[in-house]
Amino acid sequence: MLFQAHEAVDRMRAIQVDGVEIEVTRKAIRSLRLRVCPPLAAVRLSVPWRASREEVLRFVLSRQDWIRRHRERMLAFPAPAAPAVPADGAGIFLWGRGCVLRIVPGRFHAELAGDTLRLCVPDPADPACCVRALSRACRALLMERMRCLVAHWSRTLGVAVPELRIRNMKTRWGSCNPRAGRIWISAELVRRTPECLEYVLVHELAHLLEHGHTDRFRAILDRCLPDWRQRRHVLNNRARESGFFGCAINRKENGKHESTT
Ligand SMILES: [Zn+2]
Repeated sequence: MLFQAHEAVDRMRAIQVDGVEIEVTRKAIRSLRLRVCPPLAAVRLSVPWRASREEVLRFVLSRQDWIRRHRERMLAFPAPAAPAVPADGAGIFLWGRGCVLRIVPGRFHAELAGDTLRLCVPDPADPACCVRALSRACRALLMERMRCLVAHWSRTLGVAVPELRIRNMKTRWGSCNPRAGRIWISAELVRRTPECLEYVLVHELAHLLEHGHTDRFRAILDRCLPDWRQRRHVLNNRARESGFFGCAINRKENGKHESTT
């Protein structure tokens, strides 16, 4: 039997599917949320208080393949250890290609010219200072490109320009809160191709028009980015380059949208 549930699912803490333990937490949320978490591919499920036992079991069963796929992927390509301290002359990945990092002393400033990122750092001998400066530079590059893309795509889609924020996300590429008009983007996207970033942004902007991944939602993407499936494939299948895993899945009811891809 693939699925075994503990007796009291209403108070359940864990269920087993296919030999994998799923940690279950009841929360004040509106939709079921399933995650595969790094580094050991632990599976966690958040469940709204009002969800019935049957609903939870049905949801988990319907996601069996997804769970297996993402656990395999995560265990095959474990996330790298803490990021190395950026050094002058080091190779870094930006916009889907290898670049050279040049660190020079000076007031913080960053400039990407061709395949070279020139980074002015107040104290190049201080590793923490270099890490901070590189992170700040990457976020600035990402934000600059996002603003241009969002200006274009908001007009095209006929939606108000949303508030844009960047954060480190372990399991998502982006998220959208349509009610607040806010989009969060993974800081990791600065390492992916600009086409991947564009796909994630258009995906999230489309959620301002349609919350769920419905036919209407897909029709919007088909119209705007006819190759969006290909971009999504590139995004999710080059995870090993950066040790990053885009693997969040939510079940939409009528609440806010919180996941991409
Ligand atoms: Zn989505």
